[in-house]
Amino acid sequence: MPDNTAPPAPLSKNALKKQAKAERFAANKLERRAREKEARKEKKRLHALKRAAGELDDEDDKRASKKPRVVTDFKGKVVLDLGFDDKMNEKEIVSLTSQLAYTYSANRHAMYPFSLFFSSLNGRTLARLESLNDAGYKRWTNTQWWQEGYEKLWGDGVTEQGNVVYLTADADYELLELKEDETYIIGGICDHNRYKNLCLNKAKESGVRAARLPIGRYLAQMPTRKVLTVNQVMEILIKWAETKDWEQALYAVVPKRKFRTNEPEAEEDDGKEGHEVIAADARPDDAS
Ligand code: SAH
Repeated sequence: MPDNTAPPAPLSKNALKKQAKAERFAANKLERRAREKEARKEKKRLHALKRAAGELDDEDDKRASKKPRVVTDFKGKVVLDLGFDDKMNEKEIVSLTSQLAYTYSANRHAMYPFSLFFSSLNGRTLARLESLNDAGYKRWTNTQWWQEGYEKLWGDGVTEQGNVVYLTADADYELLELKEDETYIIGGICDHNRYKNLCLNKAKESGVRAARLPIGRYLAQMPTRKVLTVNQVMEILIKWAETKDWEQALYAVVPKRKFRTNEPEAEEDDGKEGHEVIAADARPDDAS
């Protein structure tokens, strides 16, 4: 596991309160799971009783025993490139780490979850993650954390360099579809649009292709170059894997108010709308 290079900042009163709440919630988890199990058992018992009383037929049996769908349809890989620690101020590091938690949470609930890799884990981003939820990120399922850069992907033979695509709004090339044999990189940075071409140049230097989401093509009211937050981009990929349809994927994630026409479009995204969109159906223990 990564070594913690910087000591975590002392927590504010509010943060301490939040932390205590999260801890209480986590402590009750086993109890909640047990209650849910009991409820399922009770439902089964009632079904058997009704069946015995002749109130239900074969069709009802089939419906009741329906197993959750086995997810095999789309197996994607996404790398969150955390190699921008020195490009953000403290507030942006805080925003980024919540965007990472929302990303994880959205993926955990996805119909077709992606394998998530986090590369270049270091510095203040790492310190912040360590300080949240008793280093809850270490318990995130289906994730891998690397101190090394994403070059490890082809260095370690996870995938070929030619199959890696860096997603960035600054790319000329528009993504037409996602492919299972390709790995997509999202830049783990919250920079309020300070650094244009940052990820594009990084992609060029490391010899990987770059592509932007087809926002202009599918959402006529939007500018072609639209910079979204990390979790919004992840949500769009998740939705695409589910629907194989960019229009649906984009509409589901990009805040609706962004589609009003004849209004000046703010160039900057603070990521807040991404949080609102996703927080609406996120449970508080999602990112723990
Ligand atoms: N200045 C940064 C922007 C950070 S936004 C840059 O140079 O890209 C956070 C990340 O979300 C980006 O690095 C990119 O991976 C992804 N992203 C945001 N908007 C995107 C878009 N329209 N198309 C593709 N990826 C996008």
